Amino acid sequence: MVMNRASALETPWPPWHCPRHQLPLQPASESLACAQGESFSFHLGIPRFVSPGHYATAFGAQWKRYRRTQLDSYTGHPLSRDRARRAIGEELWSRLAGLDLLECGCGAGRFTEVLLQQGARVTSVDLSEAVEANQENLPQSRTHRIAQADILQLPFLPESFDLVFCLGVIQHTPSPETTLASLYSQVRPGGALVVDHYAHSLSWYTKSAFLLRYYYRRLPPAKGLPAIERLVDRWLPLHEKVRRFRPAQIVLSRVSPVLCYYHALPQLSDDLQREWALLDTHDSLTCWYCHARSRRAVRAALQRLGAEAIWCEYGENGVVARARRPLLSAHTAGQSSGL
Ligand SMILES: [Zn+2]
Repeated sequence: MVMNRASALETPWPPWHCPRHQLPLQPASESLACAQGESFSFHLGIPRFVSPGHYATAFGAQWKRYRRTQLDSYTGHPLSRDRARRAIGEELWSRLAGLDLLECGCGAGRFTEVLLQQGARVTSVDLSEAVEANQENLPQSRTHRIAQADILQLPFLPESFDLVFCLGVIQHTPSPETTLASLYSQVRPGGALVVDHYAHSLSWYTKSAFLLRYYYRRLPPAKGLPAIERLVDRWLPLHEKVRRFRPAQIVLSRVSPVLCYYHALPQLSDDLQREWALLDTHDSLTCWYCHARSRRAVRAALQRLGAEAIWCEYGENGVVARARRPLLSAHTAGQSSGL
């Protein structure tokens, strides 16, 4: 059955389901209740499907501290828009309006913003308290809702979304292949999955970040954020000095634990250069998991899941991939996507 997208905004959201029992959740006072007795509370208007103490605590602190840093509306440059658009592909990008889109690992909302601008109906989830930063930046509305949830235990029935979108996330989960499978399970027949993943590179293994991570990721956020600020304030001026001298940049990037954008994004102002350096250095030094995969490995994982029309290339942030769930899958019972 192909949905009429013109009426998509009038159709209900893919309904919440208990991540454990797959039963529909009924609204109770300030919570969602499962018939098996489980209950998931709302906090700040956001349903919470995770318990505290998950591995993404540092990300939550990071996105609250740097809530607006990567938003196009803040930088004045279409950096997030261009990256999302390249990953989604022109054809699908032009038809996002009214589609049910699941954004996994939404962070503070750099991509939420541009997906909403394209008219998609976006369900944004994140494992961490970053959902609160996302809500402050992009309040919930009839085209945007937010949940704190684990990608491996999503609060929806399988095959609920036209497009599942997940950039900058999978490498930070315990098992990229398991995460891919869970994301793919949410795609409706005929719908699409769009992801990216860090790739192996020489700098990946030679950068000092590789070792420093063992120290920094153990710090509680209250210590981790200031520690990273001190690191950036020590190293970034050196990066700035050699910003126009590529050979020195390359040498410096081998010894400096600080990630900077003087080369990749010269259009950013000095203030934004510092903010992006703080944010991405914190990201790279405090993440608990940080995997790399080749293009071939990502493609093979998507093939094993039964995806078709697989497109998989190296891009600015590693491997970028998109794929479709076949319209006639053997176990299809639910709704198909109108893509
Ligand atoms: Zn339940």
